[in-house]
Amino acid sequence: MSTATVIGGGPAGLFAAETLAAAGVTVTVHERKPSPGRRFLLAGHGGLNITHSEAREPFLSRYGASADRIAPMLERFGPEDLRAWCEDLGEPTFVGSSGRVFPQAFRATPLFRAWLSRLTELGVTLERRSLWTGWDADGRALITDANGQPGAVESDVTVFALGGASWPHLGADGAWVEPFRARGVEVTALRPANVGLRVAWTDVFVERFAGAPLKNVSLTVRGSGAPPQRGDAMLTRTGIEGGPVYAIGAAIRSALDVAATGGAPCVLEVDLRPDVSADQLVQRLGRRRPKDSASTWLRRAVGLDPASIGLLRETDSGALPSEPAHMAALIKAVPVRVTDTMPIDRAISTAGGIAWSEMDDRLMLRRMPGTFVAGEMLDWEAPTGGYLLQASFSMGAWAADGALAWLGSDD
Ligand SMILES: Cc1cc2nc3c(=O)[nH]c(=O)nc-3n(C[C@H](O)[C@H](O)[C@H](O)COP(=O)(O)OP(=O)(O)OC[C@H]3O[C@@H](n4cnc5c(N)ncnc54)[C@H](O)[C@@H]3O)c2cc1C
Repeated sequence: MSTATVIGGGPAGLFAAETLAAAGVTVTVHERKPSPGRRFLLAGHGGLNITHSEAREPFLSRYGASADRIAPMLERFGPEDLRAWCEDLGEPTFVGSSGRVFPQAFRATPLFRAWLSRLTELGVTLERRSLWTGWDADGRALITDANGQPGAVESDVTVFALGGASWPHLGADGAWVEPFRARGVEVTALRPANVGLRVAWTDVFVERFAGAPLKNVSLTVRGSGAPPQRGDAMLTRTGIEGGPVYAIGAAIRSALDVAATGGAPCVLEVDLRPDVSADQLVQRLGRRRPKDSASTWLRRAVGLDPASIGLLRETDSGALPSEPAHMAALIKAVPVRVTDTMPIDRAISTAGGIAWSEMDDRLMLRRMPGTFVAGEMLDWEAPTGGYLLQASFSMGAWAADGALAWLGSDD
């Protein structure tokens, strides 16, 4: 019987393990933590958004530059397959108002428990506190076991699914990058994705508005050409976060790189009234009553709330324009200087990872025949909305298929 070693007990690794075991392969999973799936379980705290219900094309577009590589994996195991898989494990799913898909229980725990039972039934061995540290001179995986004993493991195929580097205390800390690079594998720098941004707000602003939402705004990164992102953002003590902020993350990182090398500063432009044109705003703002303060004027004429008005006051000059056309222009593009992203350990996911050029179509490393990779350790990114977990599952299935094909071939 063929044997497989899966290293990393997150969704990508465990789904690869399930796929391999279901095909009759003897599978051992090595997970460094005392229990697997810690990030999956944490993801479920606020509701496990496991995938999304939108149509294929927009769904695929969420993977940006990696969409072409991920497309066949979504064909192999797509959103409908993932939902059927959940149902099969006794956890039917539902579509939330935004099109996001959740298990009926909302949390991840019941689904994960059922999944581990299935893996046991399939005969998958799960080695906990089992840390992969690199390879020996013969290319065997080096594992330090739960008793602290180092050793080398051998199997017919190996699947790595070690995750990225965000929330490192949950297990995935990016320590795998150096051993992979030492073997000549190109790894693009791991960087925070789906992460809040740092802004040097004034003390007065923090005092009044940290924790306040900016409802239904549209965000762009000045000079980036990246499409605007709509939604609710959240003001924090250190900056700004939320769905639309995460969705422009790649453009923000590029702009920060430019700024770091002496180029233009990274500026987020906030359109506080994306559904109202600048001309309409000018008309409305033209109806100012002489006794109105600036705040009353903005509230009455345009319906801005205190946090939005506070944001207008945070602009470089500090003084609010009184001329309607100038004010309208400001409301349509409030400039917010971004100094950095929050650190990777506070990010929901990781951008960067093993370069696509290092893998063949089946996610096998070109430099290491018989070794496959899957999940967030690859160089792709996607916004929140279920796209991260979906791709992790799809890649797990795809890498396992690749491993099965490899086992069946004469190479
Ligand atoms: C707070 C939070 C909320 C999230 N919410 C969502 C959501 O709602 N929807 C969504 O789609 N995505 C969400 N995500 C992202 C999602 O959890 C990840 O994209 C997904 O878990 C990636 O799966 P993975 O298997 O590639 O990596 P991981 O889940 O990180 O698993 C990697 C595993 O490898 C193990 N490992 C690492 N190094 C070693 C080693 N040297 N030896 C042995 N084992 C090792 C780790 O301990 C870990 O268990 C969220 C993430 C966070 C942090």
